[in-house]
Amino acid sequence: MAITGTLYIVSAPSGAGKSSMINAYLSRHRAYPAQVSVSHTTRASRPGEIDGNHYHFVNHDEFKKLISEQAFFEYAEVFGNFYGTSRHTIEKTLAEGIDVFLDIDWQGARQVKQMMPEAVSVFILPPSREELENRLHMRGQDSPDVIKKRMDEAESEMSHYNEYDYLIINSNFDEALSELTAIITGQRLQTRQQAAKHRGLLDELLSK
Ligand code: GDP
Ligand code: ADP
Ligand code: 5GP
Repeated sequence: MAITGTLYIVSAPSGAGKSSMINAYLSRHRAYPAQVSVSHTTRASRPGEIDGNHYHFVNHDEFKKLISEQAFFEYAEVFGNFYGTSRHTIEKTLAEGIDVFLDIDWQGARQVKQMMPEAVSVFILPPSREELENRLHMRGQDSPDVIKKRMDEAESEMSHYNEYDYLIINSNFDEALSELTAIITGQRLQTRQQAAKHRGLLDELLSK
């Protein structure tokens, strides 16, 4: 049986730390074949964000055209902007045996779980509302208006935590990262995955 990649869905209220955790995981496990899906979005780029790297930045008309071409695996309106995951890229990447992380909101997560129930979903919560707001300010990337909008939406996003397979509280970053690592390690050690990866060894051990 060919090895296909695992799809991980990671959601959290804005500022809870999902991007930091996914990036830290990937940079500490460079030998592990995995990548973050780069979404399309209609929101304006933040200072330092690179088109094609953080997001594919498109306007409304381009986004609508992509919808009509069924280019999205899922898409949703979040904080007044559209965000969507490219169908072609994730299907191709998973087929190559590479794991894919989706940093998407609860609406997108729900669509993905319906289409692909074997996807592994993780929800990240901040230790408090105050800390969430503090992190949004500390990140220094959003205007006070945008931060207010994101804080207003935080409770609604968080109310969906129980639709996910795993729940992590990101209080201490290293602890939260170890918890994410444990989930991914557990997933990779599943018999189905291990049997595909170690086919040669199994054949040799069981050849008599
Ligand atoms: P962040 O909260 O700081 O990561 O802010 P972003 O502007 O990067 O993301 C805004 C919202 O859009 C978050 O809730 C993301 O999870 C969500 N999001 C990003 N990409 C996608 C996507 O491809 N699909 C869906 N459904 N949601 C996305
Ligand atoms: P998200 O992708 O969920 O919007 P980010 O990963 O951008 O969140 O994190 C928001 C901010 O909070 C960043 O400046 C990040 O460095 C910081 N941060 C993330 N996790 C922690 C933590 N456990 N303790 C303190 N700061 C954190
Ligand atoms: P930001 O604008 O801060 O980059 O992202 C805001 C929110 O949009 C985050 O919660 C992020 O997870 C979500 N998001 C980003 N890309 C996508 C996407 O492709 N699909 C969906 N559904 N949500 C996304």
